Amino acid sequence: MAILDWIYPKKCLGCGASGHYFCQVCQRWIGRRGECLEYQGIVRQAIKEIKYRGIYTLVSELVEIWNPERPGVDVLVTSVPMWKDKRRVRGYNQAELIAREVARLWGVDYLETLVRNRETRPMYGLSRKARQDNIRNAFQQNPKLEIRDKTLVLIDDVWTSGATIGECTRVLKRAGWKKIIPMALAS
Ligand SMILES: [Zn+2]
Repeated sequence: MAILDWIYPKKCLGCGASGHYFCQVCQRWIGRRGECLEYQGIVRQAIKEIKYRGIYTLVSELVEIWNPERPGVDVLVTSVPMWKDKRRVRGYNQAELIAREVARLWGVDYLETLVRNRETRPMYGLSRKARQDNIRNAFQQNPKLEIRDKTLVLIDDVWTSGATIGECTRVLKRAGWKKIIPMALAS
């Protein structure tokens, strides 16, 4: 048993049974929406836990349940970046934790392809137009990175309007990435 499991024993987010964050029984209640897990119940709770506590074992259990299909062989994984000041305060970016775990699961490389230029307002409650204005030019290609001739899987934690992931895709395409597949753990 790892030391952290001893300090913070794992308990099921649904029923409190010890051993895992998702016990066999509660896992059965997790629904799917297309390629994503349904953003409700213990999945919603788990994403909040990851956002505010960053428990790595929780990320790996959740990604294992999600188990997204690898789209082909020549694949690289990247994530929607977080504003650097926010990342500094939180200590990590939850979308990156999820994406790195997916890369590990698929046995492919993880790349930091994008940089966030500024903080944006939360998307919740904004109109479609306001969402697009909010996110426009909020990202740029990581200047330290070369474009590679591989499929880039762009990962976010939650798919809401698609405005954020859409803007990231636009920037990556303009930078020269040819094939980009957006994915989110939950929707
Ligand atoms: Zn349970």
